[in-house]
Amino acid sequence: MTPITIALSKGRIFDETAPLLARAGILAEEDPDTSRRLVIGTNRRDVRLLIVRASDTPTYVQHGAADLGIAGLDVLIEHGGEGLYQPVDLGIARCRMMVAVRSGFDYEGAVRQGARLRIATKYVKSASGHFAAKGVHVDLIKLYGSMELAPIVGLADAIVDLVSSGGTLRANDLIAVEEIMPISSRLIVNQAALKLKRATLRPLIDAFARAAAAR
Ligand code: ATP
Ligand code: MG
Repeated sequence: MTPITIALSKGRIFDETAPLLARAGILAEEDPDTSRRLVIGTNRRDVRLLIVRASDTPTYVQHGAADLGIAGLDVLIEHGGEGLYQPVDLGIARCRMMVAVRSGFDYEGAVRQGARLRIATKYVKSASGHFAAKGVHVDLIKLYGSMELAPIVGLADAIVDLVSSGGTLRANDLIAVEEIMPISSRLIVNQAALKLKRATLRPLIDAFARAAAAR
């Protein structure tokens, strides 16, 4: 029996992964949203789940502390993806990475005039790539959350954040002005583990791919 570990975060990623796991015949023994355990067994004796912070998932898989992981494209871009295969887009936790500004701010005008923009974000790699490709000069301000506050208090002209319903932007008098990319969560695989544990991992990866396609 080759033990397999899957790293994922609780909340929306676990909630949307659980049905895919179920289709692959894997049922968690506890709900990470209510349990305090960080290692959760499953009905399969050889499969266990590691509950990690969303932005830490690629790190666990890169270093082989987990064989598989579920991570958003946003997180994978910031991590860089070294040591990881990304064989399946699971199509879960979908949202869009967007540029948003205060409703009074003339973003298009500022871009046209070549103004230097202050951008607050958690997603500095994605943001710098986006503005570099547009030829817009930016000062990036790294934040770890609640980006919506930054334009309100004058810390930044714009934010780069994930948007699904748009409710949080509206509640803070912000409007989305540009889409950077669509986001969904991916299955990630440790490259060395795939070679060493291929006989166990390959069927599991295929089961994830089938479950994602069947959604
Ligand atoms: P942390 O709370 O640990 O700082 P986080 O806020 O990125 O991290 P979650 O809110 O659980 O953690 O988000 C996990 C993943 O879900 C994100 O990396 C992203 O891919 C996706 N996601 C984030 N926000 C949304 C959203 N509003 N709608 C859909 N998916 C989202
Ligand atoms: Mg969050």
